[in-house]
Amino acid sequence: MSRLAVVCGGSRGIGEVVSRLLAERGCRVAVVSRNQEAAQAAVASLHGADHQAFSCDVSKEQQVQETFERIQKTCGNISYLVNSAGINRDALLLRMRPEDMVAVLHTNLLGSMLTCRAALRSMLRTQGAAIVNIGSVVGLKGNAGQCAYSASKAGLEGFTRSLAKEVASRNIRVNLLAPGTSQKHSLCMFYPFPVLCHPIPPCSLGFIHTDMTAGLREEAGARSIPLGRFGTPEEIAQAALFLLEASYVTGQVLVVDGGLQLAM
Ligand code: NDP
Repeated sequence: MSRLAVVCGGSRGIGEVVSRLLAERGCRVAVVSRNQEAAQAAVASLHGADHQAFSCDVSKEQQVQETFERIQKTCGNISYLVNSAGINRDALLLRMRPEDMVAVLHTNLLGSMLTCRAALRSMLRTQGAAIVNIGSVVGLKGNAGQCAYSASKAGLEGFTRSLAKEVASRNIRVNLLAPGTSQKHSLCMFYPFPVLCHPIPPCSLGFIHTDMTAGLREEAGARSIPLGRFGTPEEIAQAALFLLEASYVTGQVLVVDGGLQLAM
């Protein structure tokens, strides 16, 4: 039987393209997102049959547990897990509401921990299982206006390396993919004044074209990237597939940012 891949956050953006590429390679894909209709629509667009949609909020322990039990029951053992579900609630820390901090940390960090935990038993029963968590360059470098988001993504790095050590002896690999996001080119770039005097711009500071970055002013953002343009979800998804299939790579962070880090 073909490999089963679970893609959390697979209904849109980077996760949707990861799901498409996995399906094109012959995997069966379980697409997970909160919005069931969106997950179903993503499944309907996939190449081949045997894909399924699951509605689940990854930040809720019980939902995650029940969803992964259903996945196991209806689809079988999990070979690949991609954690692409993520949110941002950007604001300077002084202006950030505690409930937004909690939402970001619970979705981006706790959510990935919960899905990994729920998937591991199933993955132990397959050969060459692998997990890819989606972090961000912001988690490695920090970014004004994204304290909670960058903390969640930095946490993912420590989590990924620790879990990689825990499960390597069982031949399960765990890696972090870090798409590009700007640091000094963000607030400073959009606002040439001290950041605390100015409101955060109404956009994410990510540089991959998805819903998450729909409001970003492209021209200004692209100028700060050595390759001179935003990345595409396809370019991030290709890197995720590489990490899933790279049988001698574990506990690593792969930065895919058009060289942005070089300029930070
Ligand atoms: P999108 O906003 O386009 O898609 C997010 C996906 O996650 C959707 O499928 C959404 O579906 C799902 N999701 C959000 N919250 C939850 C939740 N609590 N439970 C289950 N599913 C959830 O985001 P991107 O594709 O742009 O980003 C994907 C990942 O890449 C994120 O982790 C993001 O932080 C990271 N990243 C993105 C960058 C960029 O420039 N775009 C840059 C760096 C990192 P639904 O709303 O139905 O739940």
